[in-house]
Amino acid sequence: MVHMQHYFARELPAGLESLGDLALDLRWSWSHASDTLWKRIDQELWEATGNPWLILENTSRDHLEALARDNDFLDKLRGQVRARDESLNAPTWFSEQDDTRELDLVAYFSMEFGLSEALPIYSGGLGILAGDMLKTASDLGVPMVGVGLLYQQGYFRQMINVKGQQQAYFPYNNPAMLPVLPVRKSDGSWLHVNVEFPGRMLRLRCWEARVGRVRLLLLDANGMSNHPRDRGITGELYGGDEETRLQQEIVLGIGGWRMLDALGLTPTVSHLNEGHAAFAVLQRAAQCARQHDLDFITALQATRAGNLFTTHTPVVAAFDQFPSALIRKYFNSFAKQWMVDIEALLDLGRTHLGDERELFNMAFLALRASGAINGVSRLHGIVSRELFAPLFPRWPLAEIPVGHVTNGVHTPSWDSAEADDLWTKACGENRWISSLDGIEVAITTLDDTTLWDFRTRQRQRLISTVRVHAAHQRAGRAESERRIEECSLLFDPNALTLGFARRFTGYKRPNLLLVQPERLARLLCNQRHPVQLVLSGKAHPRDLDGQDMIRQWIEFIARADIQGRVVFIEDYDMAVASDLVQGVDAWINTPRRPWEASGTSGMKILVNGGLNISELDGWWAEAYSPEVGWALGDGNEHGIDPAWDFEEADALYQLLETSIVPEFYERNDDGIPSRWVSRVRASMARLTPAYSTNRMLREYVENYYLPRAEAFSRRIANNGRGACDLRKWSARVAAHWSAVRIGDLECQKQDNGMIANAQIFLDGLPPDDIAVELYADGIGANGASECYWMERVQTLAGAVNGFRYRVSLTTTRPSNDYTVRVRPAHPLAEVPLEEPHILWSR
Ligand SMILES: *Cc1c(COP(=O)(O)O)cnc(C)c1O
Repeated sequence: MVHMQHYFARELPAGLESLGDLALDLRWSWSHASDTLWKRIDQELWEATGNPWLILENTSRDHLEALARDNDFLDKLRGQVRARDESLNAPTWFSEQDDTRELDLVAYFSMEFGLSEALPIYSGGLGILAGDMLKTASDLGVPMVGVGLLYQQGYFRQMINVKGQQQAYFPYNNPAMLPVLPVRKSDGSWLHVNVEFPGRMLRLRCWEARVGRVRLLLLDANGMSNHPRDRGITGELYGGDEETRLQQEIVLGIGGWRMLDALGLTPTVSHLNEGHAAFAVLQRAAQCARQHDLDFITALQATRAGNLFTTHTPVVAAFDQFPSALIRKYFNSFAKQWMVDIEALLDLGRTHLGDERELFNMAFLALRASGAINGVSRLHGIVSRELFAPLFPRWPLAEIPVGHVTNGVHTPSWDSAEADDLWTKACGENRWISSLDGIEVAITTLDDTTLWDFRTRQRQRLISTVRVHAAHQRAGRAESERRIEECSLLFDPNALTLGFARRFTGYKRPNLLLVQPERLARLLCNQRHPVQLVLSGKAHPRDLDGQDMIRQWIEFIARADIQGRVVFIEDYDMAVASDLVQGVDAWINTPRRPWEASGTSGMKILVNGGLNISELDGWWAEAYSPEVGWALGDGNEHGIDPAWDFEEADALYQLLETSIVPEFYERNDDGIPSRWVSRVRASMARLTPAYSTNRMLREYVENYYLPRAEAFSRRIANNGRGACDLRKWSARVAAHWSAVRIGDLECQKQDNGMIANAQIFLDGLPPDDIAVELYADGIGANGASECYWMERVQTLAGAVNGFRYRVSLTTTRPSNDYTVRVRPAHPLAEVPLEEPHILWSR
């Protein structure tokens, strides 16, 4: 490995060179042992930015030279360097798995990565998931490289003015101050990749960030050699118009894959975090076609086996889509270069082939070019099967090929210092980097006093933080000295502290608690059992309804009778989230089911002993049980219905009034709320490991990455013979399918079952190209369907390519519950994902 100092922007004094390596490894965002070093160098800047790289760039030479003579500092530095080396070289969960040979490298593509405030290239949950994913890949030793964009401005920063209006600011990300470096070629020059844009060549700069064992490679368009109109393409995350968005996605997908290629990286698995990155599959196919001398479509068939698409969308309207004309404008030249018909490319993003009016759907492209698809919670898996069902006409819903892996959070990134301490004592140092066995038992044995004390210390720290934030905000709005001083008295360290922070947007219903403001006021200001609430969240600059909901809260907070029991912390970001999830007693989440595909913020409080009060949506729909928290909603979908919102708000108040608040204040002789603490213990023990990215990534490896890698190598072996075979099979199926026919079905009752015989006429298809199955729907709403493979037993006399198929089965159901179906089959193919044809006898 090349040492990072090679690229270090400034000379560090002898003895301190390794500080550069430490500062550039974002491992410091979750492993806090090196914090003392950065504090020693510049405490103020460390507290303001949490960015060691910036600290190094800003420190005077004299100060650095003094530190280079300071033996205590040097000792600490050497200790940290040793600790980092040891952890990077230790055996990992992945290195100890058998049969991982086929999985050389996973490329993880995402529009955003939320690793730390010091690298602000994310907006919310999707990015944080991506960041947590890379950190976990480092922990578990999964070979992964991240691919993303380096935005000049990232997502907007928020201030709220005295009128409660949100102000959006776009500070400039100076790449020299971010913990990233240019990617250099072996000759020392800066690596660039080119992407053809209409009438011009876009030249992209390549950057890298280090995340422990894992690299995150980033592209930006802001190089001097690009035309001024193009230099802003990677300016703003989720900013600009439709065309900018398409340009960004081309840069991410096509530029991203080319960057990997230029670095000699050949991932066996390509993981698309949401449809934004789907163009990567096209460049991957093009590269494979060149390398193995295949045509583009065959190469796509080969490589798709190695692609995994994770969808995060719960509604059709949220899919990323572009007009055909715009796709033509940008993809004509790619199509020529790849020697594929542009119409074939366009069809990859449509439901109805050839329909020019239909928008090009990035999720459909991803689906048609992947070997597997997953949603991000059990419920979201079900919802996604409904969303994608139109691409699989006549297939039963349960067989629509979308699985699920429930999201998690990178626990070491979200735990407090107190939690780190408590968990280390209970479960050991390496608890989050191995298989999580034994954690539940260890936490279950913690006693009430320990847990309550743990909760109290974290709540106290949050309250100091809230006071600092509030004073800062009031000062920023030029409020009076007295108002600023009053902040030191905000909140009561012994009062029940609730948190609510998320994007302010309609479906999250951030103002559900405001449906009956007087009732909320009574709850908050109860003399004996006071409640306090910390809020935070941004509304997209174009989401006026979201901004209005912020304003409603600010007005409520300003009421004299609320007595400062609610604080809105501006500029929700990872740092604010981190403060909140460590300190709150309970976290409220009120999405409109099923719009919260998973949700992760509620998972961040688990390790810190917070409890969830949440709608039965996303992850909570599978995590909830009465011992671990509280549920809202009836587990059904109600659409956008103000009457139902009112009912749920009513239920939320009632839950707070009759259950949550009383339980928190119900103390035993030792002053401990023992029922509350029991919940804390159960939630920590059961849910923390289950909703971690450790569990999540191991599921991805076992259920997706390894099978994908193997499927890809089977297709690509012998210069793609498997893929060519598949291609021919696909063509045969397409040519003959409409003439395949099911003749008579005869069912004979047996003692405890039946024998079914079916006549099948295959037109020109060899029988091995298809499978014949006997099928029955499940009984009742939740019954599992039955499906039996039928054996080809006889050629039908006098028929051309007609056969009798038979199966004998045990059943008590009547024979007319059963139907026969014919579907394509091939040992290398995923059906119905790759061949959605199906024929039913009725
Ligand atoms: C965790 C997190 C999110 C995602 O929260 P959800 O409630 O899952 O939407 C968004 N923004 C920040 C800053 C976060 O830390």
